[in-house]
Amino acid sequence: MARAGNKNIQAKLVLLGDMGAGKTSLVLRFVKGQFHEYQESTIGAAFFTQVLSLNEATVKFDIWDTAGQERYHSLAPMYYRGAAAAVVVYDITSMDSFQRAKKWVLELHRQGNPKIVMFLVANKADLAGKRQVDNEEGEQYARENGLSFLETSAKTAQNVNELFYEIAKGVAKAM
Ligand code: GDP
Ligand code: MG
Repeated sequence: MARAGNKNIQAKLVLLGDMGAGKTSLVLRFVKGQFHEYQESTIGAAFFTQVLSLNEATVKFDIWDTAGQERYHSLAPMYYRGAAAAVVVYDITSMDSFQRAKKWVLELHRQGNPKIVMFLVANKADLAGKRQVDNEEGEQYARENGLSFLETSAKTAQNVNELFYEIAKGVAKAM
C-alpha cells in the first residue's frame, strides 16, 4: 500500500558480466524464485520488471538482461542509457570472469551515469570448493572502485533478495 509522501520510482537496472557468470539466473531467482541448472545462455526474455516496496519508496525496476551480446565483450550504448543501477557479476569459480568483471566496470564508468548505483556481485557462492576468487579480493576491488559488494548464489538464493533491496535503497537515496 502506498503511504502518503511515499516516492514512486521507476529505475532501469542493467546487468553486466561475462557469459556464464549467472546474470540471467540471478534475475530469474529474484523475479520468479526459480533456478535452472542448465540455464539457456542466449535465448529468453531480456527484459523483466519487478516492484520492491521500501519504507521510503516504491521502486519499480526495469531490468535489462543481456541476450548473449556479452559474448563480444561490449554492449551497445543504449543498453546503459538512463540506467539508475548496474550490477556487474562474476563467478567465484572463474578468475577469468573476475578479470573480465573489472573490464566491465571500466566500460560502465566510461558509458554510465556518474550517479549510477553500482554493485559488484560474486556469484556461485555455493561452489566454494571450486573457488578461484577470494571474497576479500572482490571486496577490495569493489571498495577501491566505488562499488558495493555482495557474494550471492542464484542456486541457493543466498543474498539475492538482499542484493535487489540494497540496490532499491541506493536508488531511492540517489533520487
Ligand atoms: P549468464 O550468461 O551470466 O546469464 O549466466 P546464466 O544465468 O545463464 O548461468 C550460467 C550457468 O551457471 C547456468 O548453468 C546456471 O545454472 C549456472 N549458475 C548460475 N548461477 C549459479 C549459482 O549461483 N550457483 C551455481 N552452482 N550455478 C549457477
Ligand atoms: Mg544470460
